Amino acid sequence: MLFFKDLFYLFYPKLCAICEENLTQNETTICTLCRHDLPLTNFINYKNNKVTQTFYGRVLVEKAFALLFFRKEGVTQKLIHDLKYKGNEDVGVFFGNWLGEILNKNQEFKNIDYIIPVPLHPEKLKERGYNQVTKFGERLSFYLNKPLIEGKLKRVSLTRTQTFKARFERFTNNDTKFLLDDSSYFDNKNVLIIDDVITTGATLEACANEFLKSKNCNISILTIAYTE
Ligand SMILES: [Zn+2]
Repeated sequence: MLFFKDLFYLFYPKLCAICEENLTQNETTICTLCRHDLPLTNFINYKNNKVTQTFYGRVLVEKAFALLFFRKEGVTQKLIHDLKYKGNEDVGVFFGNWLGEILNKNQEFKNIDYIIPVPLHPEKLKERGYNQVTKFGERLSFYLNKPLIEGKLKRVSLTRTQTFKARFERFTNNDTKFLLDDSSYFDNKNVLIIDDVITTGATLEACANEFLKSKNCNISILTIAYTE
């Protein structure tokens, strides 16, 4: 006898976000075969990894980690594209659960106090309808049992003169800037800043610099993917 859940799957099969084959009832978002083929970095096993090295000489980062390699035309690019532009927030949930389980076992990240997603500019947020990092952060928050804080770190537009100036500054984003409200809130805290992909590290560096205006605030960084 078919149960309602089975019937539901029969008529509305969920598809793998990579190969687009039907998922079984035990699979979510990505099928087992595709999951095994994901380009994992294994950076978690190395304190000195390519993500931490990105910030050397730029900003002091305690720990940094990315789960996957991001390669042009690769599976990670497809997943991040779905997450960012096609409204597939399940991708964020999937990787939040995955990384949450890893971090839960890994003592290295036990001391963090707050999880902070890199914010979108309010106009971008309105246009997209969601921050692609929020669901990812909510799952991490669940596993680490630490609050996800949105709203205190804000993304603002630069004025025309500032934009002009920023073009001549290496490693700074051309058109955005971050501002932290209530920096004393983060005094003596360990903050985990999260984002979908790290490429030059400029965005995360700008966020980290805002938190470093708080007294004795330590920064760690976590992203779904790292661009080689
Ligand atoms: Zn698949």
